[in-house]
Amino acid sequence: MIYRFLNISNHPSDKWPKEQVDEVRKIVNAMFDNPIADRKIGIVDIPFPQIPPDADTQAVTDIVTTAWELVHDKCGTIIGVMGAMVQGEMTAVVAFLKILQQCLIPAYAATGEVAGFRAYPALVGNGNGTPQCPGCNSTRTKPVRNQVHECLVCGGIFGICSPREYREYVSPEWHQGPCDLKDRQYFDFEIRDRSHGWMHRQTRKIVQIG
Ligand SMILES: [Zn+2]
Repeated sequence: MIYRFLNISNHPSDKWPKEQVDEVRKIVNAMFDNPIADRKIGIVDIPFPQIPPDADTQAVTDIVTTAWELVHDKCGTIIGVMGAMVQGEMTAVVAFLKILQQCLIPAYAATGEVAGFRAYPALVGNGNGTPQCPGCNSTRTKPVRNQVHECLVCGGIFGICSPREYREYVSPEWHQGPCDLKDRQYFDFEIRDRSHGWMHRQTRKIVQIG
């Protein structure tokens, strides 16, 4: 598996200083319990689209939505996309950030003279940029921690986390015996791969996978 980091800017990654590329590796490795050295990490360049001076808000949204399709063309899936640097025209940056937030992909800007990245603050949700529960499709969610959210409709918990964090949410054991529907809680995590199913709300033991 190749873990990907998007470069949504007009600074091609093959011209980045080595230190900046190292920072990408640090960001990705920090999302795992074990910072293994040979984890495959690829930077995917998504050229920042040109925004014409007369473009209105809708036009910007459309341009960014079209540009985002390139992510699917180049990556195939957003699973394994661990972060994105976004730099360019300001309103288009916000449009990108909203898409990234919906996909639970953390967004960063380069820190400039010293190699590094700074995370963008999370956007205030308005129903479009907020994460959507994969269990019931509701956007009424609240953050539990960075990239992990709880659904305020079905009580499901979902997002991206490390294996260690995952164990805080889901017990590795199977639930024994029957489990009433009201006691079932949906979970859906992207750790190394997707893990989703139902667990017992109190014991967090797994009732059903998938
Ligand atoms: Zn839900």
